[in-house]
Order: sequence, then C-alpha cells, then structure tokens
Amino acid sequence: MKVTLLTHTPNPEKVIAIAARQCYSRLSAIEIAENIKEEDIERMIKIIMEKGHFSVLEHAYFTFAIEGVSRVCTHQLVRHRIASYSQQSQRHVKIEEDFIIPDTIKENEKAKEIFNETLELCRRNYKKLIEMGIPIEDARYILPQASPTKIIVTMNARALLNFFELRCCLMAQWEIRRVAEEMLSLVKKVAPHVFERAGPFCVTRNICPEKKYDCPKWIEIHKLSR
Ligand SMILES: Cc1cc2nc3c(=O)[nH]c(=O)nc-3n(C[C@H](O)[C@H](O)[C@H](O)COP(=O)(O)OP(=O)(O)OC[C@H]3O[C@@H](n4cnc5c(N)ncnc54)[C@H](O)[C@@H]3O)c2cc1C
Repeated sequence: MKVTLLTHTPNPEKVIAIAARQCYSRLSAIEIAENIKEEDIERMIKIIMEKGHFSVLEHAYFTFAIEGVSRVCTHQLVRHRIASYSQQSQRHVKIEEDFIIPDTIKENEKAKEIFNETLELCRRNYKKLIEMGIPIEDARYILPQASPTKIIVTMNARALLNFFELRCCLMAQWEIRRVAEEMLSLVKKVAPHVFERAGPFCVTRNICPEKKYDCPKWIEIHKLSR
C-alpha cells in the first residue's frame, strides 16, 4: 500500500484562520491575510476546534494518491460522499499487478493455498476471456475483490476529521484503517493544529460507539488519563 499527499491548499491553517476571522471582522480577507500572525493562526484554530465552528475547515483541501489497495478497501472509501474521487478504470486498464492478500491468509499456509488457487483461476480465466475477444469491461466481472486498484481522493479538513473518526478506529476494517492512519500522519505534517486531536471517537470525544471497552486503544487512552 502506498499513500501519498499529492497536494493541498497552500497554507491550509492560514486559510482556515482567515475564514474564521472574516466572520467577525470588518476587514477584507486580503487585509486579514496581510496582518495575521503565526500565533493568531494557532490560537484561532484552537478556538475553532473547541467551539465546533467546523464549517471554516471546509476551505482547506487535501489530495491523496492511494495505490496498492484492494477493491474491498476502495469500496468502503468511496462511501464517504463529502469527497472527490478518480479511480483507475477496470473497463480500460487490464489488471496485471498482484492481488491484495490479508495477513490472516498470508500467515495460514492452508488458507493461503486456497486463496492463491482461487485467485490464480480468476486471473487465468480473466486473461482467457480477453484473449477470446470479450471486452475488458465484461471480463472484469470475474475479478475478485482482492484486485489491486489506484485511486485519487480529495477531501476537505472537515470531511477528513469525520473520516478519521470512523476509519482510524481499531474496529474499522484493517485495510481502510491503514489508509486512514497513513492519511492522518500526512496531514498532521501540513496542518498540525487542525489534526492534533484527530483520530477515532475514543480520541476525539472519549466515547466508543462500538462499546468495545476491552479495545487496546480505549485501554491505552484511559491509562494515560488516570
Ligand atoms: C465500522 C463501520 C462499519 C460500516 N458498516 C456498514 C455496513 O454494514 N453497511 C453499509 O452500507 N455501510 C457501512 N458503513 C459505512 C457508513 O454507513 C458510511 O456510509 C460511511 O462510513 C461514510 O460515512 P459518512 O456518511 O459519515 O461520510 P460522508 O458521506 O463523507 O458524509 C459526511 C457527513 O456529512 C453528512 N451527510 C452526508 N450526506 C448526507 C445526507 N445525504 N444526508 C444527511 N447528512 C449527510 C453526515 O453528517 C455525514 O456524517 C460502515 C462504516 C464504518 C466506519
């Protein structure tokens, strides 16, 4: 799996702070931008996060390239509607890379044998269908969910916070969780104050919607706060 932050709004935290200040200022956004200091930005973001004035976070965009993940993973990803996506087409691009294999299968010899045997059959017959002249768009019906894919996703900071709450949870499916964790570590580098307390619900709101109080993350958080 490879997750790259392709691009983002320049100075995302400054843009957010200008938007927040604009709400309460007679000055123009340009004047605010010219006068705003680093410490103002940090302070404004802290207030925004505490008060829940989250709409201003929508002005900062982040674009990620995600590759070497399965269709299982991207099927879950694209359920997040407040985002833009561009995914490698299975109508036009023949699948040639390796399938994605979960660790539970990799670590179990018998399971690995069954998995590889099945995928090999799918791959062989996929190729055969294409060689017979069946269009790629129809041959793809035989492809398993383990098929690798590439996708570009753009989300704003507010949508990302929601995404991290849902997908950084240890109860979330492992592959999308790894994607979410990578994305979080990348955005923390460019917008550290916005994403300082980002993560699953146990981190952001001290609640566990799954009620999984024996989860290692929940235990870790509550050990630290004692
Ligand atoms: C652990 C887990 C298990 C899941 N299991 C299933 C499952 O079994 N089956 C299944 O179908 N899905 C499942 N999902 C997907 C889940 O239901 C959501 O579709 C997905 O997580 C996207 O979340 P979202 O709607 O908050 O995100 P987004 O679509 O990005 O929306 C962000 C926020 O915008 C608001 N919003 C967006 N669209 C609307 C709208 N139309 N109306 C009102 N408010 C809106 C909501 O506040 C929403 O939280 C699961 C998700 C998780 C994390």
